[in-house]
Amino acid sequence: MDNNNLVRQLCAIVGERYVLVEKEDVIVYEQDGSIFQVMPEIVVLPADVEQVAAVVKTAKQAAVPVVPRGSGTGLAGGAVPAEGGIVLSLARLDRILRIDLENGLAIVEPGVINLDLTKAVAKDGFFYAPDPSSQAACSIGGNVANNSGGPHTLAYGVTTNHVLGLEIVLDDGQVVWLGGEVPDTPGYDLRGVFVGSEGTMGVVTKVIVKLMRNRESVRTLLAIYDRMDDATRAVVEITGAGIIPAALEMMDRTTIEAVESGAPVGFPRDAEAVLLVEIEGLREQTERSVQLAYAICEQSGAREVRLARDETERQRLWKGRKGAFGAMGSLAPNYYVNDGVVPRSQLPEIMRRVAAISKKFNLRIANVFHAGDGNLHPNILFDMRAPGELDRVIEAGAAILNACVELGGSITGEHGVGIEKKAYIGLLFSDADLGAMTRVRTALDPDGRFNPAKLFPTPAGCGEVRRQPAQIPAGLWI
Ligand SMILES: Cc1cc2nc3c(=O)[nH]c(=O)nc-3n(C[C@H](O)[C@H](O)[C@H](O)COP(=O)(O)OP(=O)(O)OC[C@H]3O[C@@H](n4cnc5c(N)ncnc54)[C@H](O)[C@@H]3O)c2cc1C
Repeated sequence: MDNNNLVRQLCAIVGERYVLVEKEDVIVYEQDGSIFQVMPEIVVLPADVEQVAAVVKTAKQAAVPVVPRGSGTGLAGGAVPAEGGIVLSLARLDRILRIDLENGLAIVEPGVINLDLTKAVAKDGFFYAPDPSSQAACSIGGNVANNSGGPHTLAYGVTTNHVLGLEIVLDDGQVVWLGGEVPDTPGYDLRGVFVGSEGTMGVVTKVIVKLMRNRESVRTLLAIYDRMDDATRAVVEITGAGIIPAALEMMDRTTIEAVESGAPVGFPRDAEAVLLVEIEGLREQTERSVQLAYAICEQSGAREVRLARDETERQRLWKGRKGAFGAMGSLAPNYYVNDGVVPRSQLPEIMRRVAAISKKFNLRIANVFHAGDGNLHPNILFDMRAPGELDRVIEAGAAILNACVELGGSITGEHGVGIEKKAYIGLLFSDADLGAMTRVRTALDPDGRFNPAKLFPTPAGCGEVRRQPAQIPAGLWI
């Protein structure tokens, strides 16, 4: 089918207004939050599941790829149309369909913004637990596809722990449910397989999520350190003492500089690292854990420990943490967010190695990360316009991921593999492992047309046709 014919068919399904083909319209969909750019050929914005199914069916007949897209905040190039085809935006499927507080669940469309769900139930004392730092912008469909985490993952788990069921559109336009309103449905856990599949198995059109009740008490500590080694040791000691904070987040001196230069919240600029420790639960138990965590921070060398006096102060600390990525723009024109993981006990060592890599490649690295999960986010600061700088950035990023794997960790904690990490997936999995994963993918997407050229190091499906080469830095394709 030629493109004109395809566009005509798509217009008949969703209406002319919601099929974009002009460069000035599609350019806003050429990138996500990563460094990868590919200009889309066609962007389609359906309004409901029937339209999604019809678009997907039409794409199959035309043998073109379909790249689902939520809010485009992904950091691994997942929503970038690496092989051309149709970018399928789920932004118009943005309704909260049902809130069922008695059963502690909600049914939402995939374009619902993460934070909007918590806002919708907050007055009743409930919240939706997965809280990526991008939660004011990212969509629940994108969270499902990437199995996203966030600062509060330490206590509550990642997205998969909060998804009960999914309505998905398969490659032939069939609409099916995986899981349901009750946990542990019999048979294979296909819901679990789908969560984290990064748009390579189908399109999520409805999500049944768990809602949680607000805790009786929430307290937040800020521990200020002159040595990164002491701060990382404190993380290991706090969890080693049996405290499971709701969040345990670290920011280094460069990140503090970014936050304080952008929208200051009062982090001390001369500190080497600050640690945010948030503890929730029943009042008495929370107070006991706060006292213990306070003492551990002091014993591990904190020069000062501050306990947020009230909700305003607590929110100010979190504003600094959640705005940290955005604030990087005050330090450099570009930054590349790396996302590796190590076992918590290896945090002191990996931070030493990241510092050495920063020196070796002569690149500033700002660290802001989910320390309690051992999930690093070294932000490599650079200037895309400087010749050769991007190559050095990619080499430094690879060195960090190699170090994570050497220390018993992994190449991604929560941002997914996408385009960015597919060159590194072989560090973790053998050909046999990848072959098994490909067969699972193929069971749901036989032609490999959903989000091709992602996740797997080589084309994963027999139907993949390279229509438009991706503008991807050398060295990332294997
Ligand atoms: C400032 C900032 C902070 C961040 N902090 C965190 C954090 O703390 N924790 C974390 O985990 N991530 C974080 N991220 C990364 C990002 O926000 C998450 O990966 C998020 O889940 C992406 O959601 P999205 O709607 O933007 O998805 P997109 O970027 O649009 O897409 C992401 C992937 O999901 C697929 N997809 C999207 N919608 C669907 C659907 N309906 N059906 C099937 N596949 C779909 C896409 O094809 C793509 O592969 C951060 C990003 C930024 C920019």
